[in-house]
Amino acid sequence: MTDIETDEINTTLAVGVSSCLLGKRVRFDGGHKHDRYIAEVLGKVFTFVPICPEVETGMGVPRETIDLHGTVEAPHLVGNETGADRTTMMNRYVARRVQQRDLARTCGFILKSQSPTCGLEKVRLYGSSGRISYRATGLFAMALSRRYPSLPLIEERSLCDTDTRDNFITRVYAYGRLRQLWCGKISFARLVEFHERERYMLMTHSSQRCQILDELLLTADKRRPAIVRDQYATMFMQALKRVHSS
Ligand code: SF4
Repeated sequence: MTDIETDEINTTLAVGVSSCLLGKRVRFDGGHKHDRYIAEVLGKVFTFVPICPEVETGMGVPRETIDLHGTVEAPHLVGNETGADRTTMMNRYVARRVQQRDLARTCGFILKSQSPTCGLEKVRLYGSSGRISYRATGLFAMALSRRYPSLPLIEERSLCDTDTRDNFITRVYAYGRLRQLWCGKISFARLVEFHERERYMLMTHSSQRCQILDELLLTADKRRPAIVRDQYATMFMQALKRVHSS
């Protein structure tokens, strides 16, 4: 199954955002992390889909702080005062939530850094010996990237880097064009036409990956369209990804 939803596209692309970055008072202490660039600049370009998984799971505001414990591969979300383990509840919720229509139609996601729920990378993790490392991913970000591996994801702090930010925006638009392509019947002719239109942009990002996509299309008519579509989508989005960008 493709990770790209194929319903119709609005003229403005939908981008998911951790609610606190838009100024919503959803943080553990009743505060927010309003980000002016996101709210006032990107907000004019994209239609935001805000989400706060901690509030949506009923953890309330204010609430106790939580942290990740255990391993990078299977971290546990644990309350710092009560020691309550919220892992199962959160994992079950986000696995369902990422499939819902409002999130499934997003073409990118801006996530709050350092959060044990929304953080994409370098989230604090307490190992079994109590040793702290900064290598984990928050549970919501993990569910999102597993369900939609090609979806452009970024943390708000990475938007400060101009190249990384531009690359994210480029990928959001590219993802939107891919979704548009997948609307309607999958057709080899439409895919080839799309590839030709995107060739120049692909070449400027990675001529090597552009060639791999050329080769994929050379034998595409001998394979199942749905498989070719998924392979093309994955490789197309990888080709646009800037090294060190998420
Ligand atoms: S980081 Fe995510 S879970 Fe935490 S307050 Fe912001 S939106 Fe809610």
